[in-house]
Formats: sequence, C-alpha cells, structure tokens
Amino acid sequence: MAADRRRERHEALAALFDADGAALDALLVTSRPNIRYLTGFSGSAGVAVATRADLLLVTDFRYAEQAQAEAGAIARVEIEGASVWDRLFKDLPSLGPLTTVGYEAHNVTVKDAERFSAGAAGKAWHWKPAGELVERLRARKDPAEIGAIRAAAALAGEALRTTIAAVRPGQTELEIAGLLEGALRRCGSEGHPFPAIVASGPRSALPHAQTSRRTVAAGEWLLIDFGAVVDGYCADITRTVVVGARATEAQRALYDLVAGAQRRAREGVRAGMPGREADALARDPIEARGFGDAFGHSTGHGLGLEVHEAPRLARTATEPLPLDAVVTIEPGVYVPGRGGVRIEDDVHLSADGPVLLSDGHTDLVELV
Ligand code: ZN
Ligand code: ZN
Repeated sequence: MAADRRRERHEALAALFDADGAALDALLVTSRPNIRYLTGFSGSAGVAVATRADLLLVTDFRYAEQAQAEAGAIARVEIEGASVWDRLFKDLPSLGPLTTVGYEAHNVTVKDAERFSAGAAGKAWHWKPAGELVERLRARKDPAEIGAIRAAAALAGEALRTTIAAVRPGQTELEIAGLLEGALRRCGSEGHPFPAIVASGPRSALPHAQTSRRTVAAGEWLLIDFGAVVDGYCADITRTVVVGARATEAQRALYDLVAGAQRRAREGVRAGMPGREADALARDPIEARGFGDAFGHSTGHGLGLEVHEAPRLARTATEPLPLDAVVTIEPGVYVPGRGGVRIEDDVHLSADGPVLLSDGHTDLVELV
C-alpha cells in the first residue's frame, strides 16, 4: 500500500490560500481530478470544499458507499438525494466563519456560477476566482503517482506489442484500434483516457486524426497514439510503423529525423528548464532540416490523473518545468498528402535527470 499523501496535499493547498495575495478562507473544488487528488473520491459527481482545517465532500446517493470508502478517512462525506449544491450551501456554515471562498474559475460552468450567487444570497461569502491551485500541486508527482504512470506505460507497451503482431495490410484503422483497445483492457487498463488514434497512409499527416474505416495498404505509414490508465493515472504513447513492406528511403529519412529529435528532447529535458527550452530540444533539429512548418504542435504536456495537464512543453511556455513532473515528449512531422510520423514517450523529470517511464522503443518498425 502506497503512502497516503492526502493530508500533505491538503496542507500544501492551504498554504496556497495566501499566494498572490488571494487571502482565501476556503476553496470550492469542482474539477473531478482535483477532487480525486485531494480526497481519493473517484466518482463522477460531487463537489468538495477545502478550508485550512477541513475537507468536505458532497456527492449523491449513487456514491454513498464508494465516497465513504474512498474519502471517509480524510474528508467529511455528506450524501444528498436531491441537489448537491443546495446541500453544499447548507453545510458550508458548519466549516466555520468563511469570508472569501475561492472557486475554480477554469472549471465551472455559467450555470454553476449562477448557483453560487443564488446559494450565497443573504450570506457573507465572497466568491473569488482562484487560479489553478490544485493543478499546481498535481504537476509534481509523488513516488506512488510515478509508479502508477510507469505501470500504465508498461501495460500500454505490452498491449501495443500484441496488437502490432496482428496488424496486416487490408485491415481498417477501426479494426486495428479495436485490437489495441481490447488488448489494453486484457492487459489491465482501467479505461481509455482517449479513444485510440489509428491513422494510416496520408491520414497519418493529420496530427489528431479520427480513426476511420480506411483500409491500410502495404508500404504505408500507420500512426498509433493511445493511452492506458492504472489507479487513475494515464500513460500516453505514440508509435509510427511501416506496414507490409520495407520503408522507402524517404520514409526512413523522415522517421530518423523525428526519432532523432525525440531522443534529443527526452534525454535533454530537465526539471527547472523553461517549457519552451524543452520544446526547442525537439523543434530545433526539425527546423534545421526545413520541416519547422510541418511540426505544428507543441513537444509535450504533463501527464497524471488527466492525459493533458501541467506543465506544457511549448514555444510559448516560459514557466520552468517542475521537479518530479511527468511529461510526454512527442514531436511529429506531417507532410500533407504523403503522411506523417509522430513518436511519443513518457518521462519523469527526476532530480537526477529524465527517467523514461515508457519503453522508448523508437527504432523504425517495418511489419513485413
Ligand atoms: Zn498521445
Ligand atoms: Zn500526448
């Protein structure tokens, strides 16, 4: 059993209540992964409130047993049959005198905001949009979180190996995605953080292609981008292979360019480096070969309870990468009409440098 870090997380969150002069007495937490991070509750509906001293979780009757089991040791759990929000406003005064209550402005709907003002009518609470406080904490992973991502990456690699062994020209992208998603489940993935992207031939030049009914032909690129989940934590991997033939000279040259850029970034990335410097590790060699415009997305993103989270490895990212962040390294080059190559691995930014969590098997694979 991994160490329970929830109390430390709560304390670290409370320490941010005064950050940037915010002077919060409490934070209303509506983001599901943030609720899970703080309380352990993994259900799909609920709101939590953190004060400096207390954690309150309000959810509905479907989750009565689960919420108590997952969060009961750290939070006061209240179950509501009708409106979770009404119950929240009823229970808020029990948390002591609260003047300024922060809310997750990046994660509330207009409807939620209307509920705040209605529920707070006649009360002394002052609602204040808070920054991404819990996300800031989540960017640094503890050993159990890193272990979960490593486990997710390992089973993703295993599922990919069994899938690749069964890929043949004549199959559709959807069939291949089905093989992969079945293998992920059999290998123990709790779910798919996003539907697998399987893009073949010229469609591999669409960075976020929708898997289609297109049939894969011999000699074509097959790009597979997919994830796995263990204990709620995601891995995110992309491999691009040549199906049914040896690679042509042009295919090999394109592949080697991307693989070289990916290796440079995954070996050179460091905690403390601005996100844009990490991005440049992959981007510079691609630009130097004249393919800068064909690499139109960022080099990577954080991984954790969400498949896209802080930090960003992008041209516009000036913030330093946090120590113990887990990030993807995924450069790609896309040539419209011909096809594209993307290669993605997952890396832990440890104090001793980058540690690969996925298998890093990026030699060109030709399925002949
Ligand atoms: Zn991906
Ligand atoms: Zn990714």
